[in-house]
Amino acid sequence: MAEITIAGIPANEYKRRWNAKNSEKLKLYKARYLAKPEAKEKTKQYQDIYNKSGIHKLAQKKWYEKNAEREKARVAQWRKNNREKMLAYKREYLQKNLDKHRLHQAKRRAQIYSTRTGKIDLDKLLENMICGICNNPILVDYEIDHIVPLSRGGTHTQDNLQLAHSPCNNTKNNKLMEEL
Ligand SMILES: [Zn+2]
Repeated sequence: MAEITIAGIPANEYKRRWNAKNSEKLKLYKARYLAKPEAKEKTKQYQDIYNKSGIHKLAQKKWYEKNAEREKARVAQWRKNNREKMLAYKREYLQKNLDKHRLHQAKRRAQIYSTRTGKIDLDKLLENMICGICNNPILVDYEIDHIVPLSRGGTHTQDNLQLAHSPCNNTKNNKLMEEL
């Protein structure tokens, strides 16, 4: 496709220069537009069209695919740095939503009760103190994780249980292993 030029300059570059030169004017236009009573409604309409188009989500997905490794490391580091803050936030949230939490616990117990078959052999589970999520040894504290989460149809059975570091388990949450 031939490049569109204005006065010998590529159109997008021309536009960029024009915007830079007229930034004050543009700000004024924008403010004037936003002051109009119908601006809010129109902006919302455009926003809706944009949101429904899925362009944003697609762009986000593409960006994430490109930066997945770096993003995972960044989130892990952030969690590590903010562990205390997150725990405090979790506690506070729990206090504020006790009823919701109790309901969730009841649902979990029901899922455990209805999907369990046979006794869990704890000794066998604790035989190898290896985190099933990161594969590193567990030195201090451990949690027991449902490999396929109960909320995703997993069962409370020996073959669906693994040991996990608490932070690893937190990261996995209700994801499947292949989604990590
Ligand atoms: Zn781990």
